[in-house]
Amino acid sequence: MADRIPVALEEKFRKRLTFYQDIGIDLFYRDRFSQQRASVTEEINLPTPIPKPQPVKLTGTTPLPAPKLNMLPRSSDVSLFDSMNKIADDSLPKILADIGDCTRCKLHRGRTKLVFGDGNPQAELVFVGEGPGRDEDAQGLPFVGRAGKLLTQMIEAMGLLRKDVYICNVVKCRPPENRTPEKDEVQTCSPFLLRQLDAIAPKVIVCLGSVAAQTLLETNRGISHFRGEWLDFRGRKLMATYHPAYLLRNPSAKGEVWKDLQKVMAVLGLQGKKGLPAGAGQSSGKPS
Ligand code: URA
Repeated sequence: MADRIPVALEEKFRKRLTFYQDIGIDLFYRDRFSQQRASVTEEINLPTPIPKPQPVKLTGTTPLPAPKLNMLPRSSDVSLFDSMNKIADDSLPKILADIGDCTRCKLHRGRTKLVFGDGNPQAELVFVGEGPGRDEDAQGLPFVGRAGKLLTQMIEAMGLLRKDVYICNVVKCRPPENRTPEKDEVQTCSPFLLRQLDAIAPKVIVCLGSVAAQTLLETNRGISHFRGEWLDFRGRKLMATYHPAYLLRNPSAKGEVWKDLQKVMAVLGLQGKKGLPAGAGQSSGKPS
């Protein structure tokens, strides 16, 4: 007979499943990465891992070679995302409706406007930031403050307009005094980010800064160790680069970010411009 998982762990799973159901997610499948994380399997004594699902071949088309995407070692045994399957017919309006007038975490208390995301719902490129600042909280739109102006310049340097891409954040409500979102806030809000990414199905996700990158990649590693590398996020290409707010404080890092964005442009077939304008982001606006 198969060994049971410990009661405490079972209870933890049960609570998390209930939470997912509360936010409208009720399709789940077994762990796709059980073989990679053998240590977890050993630790909780699970029965023999189920085989990995095989990719479905599309008939009549020449399959593209699978992109070689690296995966970073995860910081936690229990993945926030592995057990969440894509919701059939999900859409940005449905996700927004499910979020509703959210009070699921303490960030709602200081919120003026919830910042869901903005841009093309079919974008090939999605930028993910950390969380709204003051200007975003006031307007209900992502990246509209000083860092946002620099992001707009970065997008335009890539040969795109803001309306061509989609921009969103890990948390949808402004953390007090723009502090880093806390673990419980990220855990509560990130299933909605995941649904947004699944619904948009972009070719490339660019994580702006360590909070976005560490959340999606489920790692504690510092962003400088993996920025500029192509990484896997649920079969999609993910590139982490520095946050525009970091560039405002460290303009000398713009060259590195531009190199990262050029890799993204190559994948998307974009010509772009010569580089980020030297003065990009140096407007007199107050920090958001
Ligand atoms: N910083 C972020 O991470 N997100 C925003 O929307 C604005 C600033």
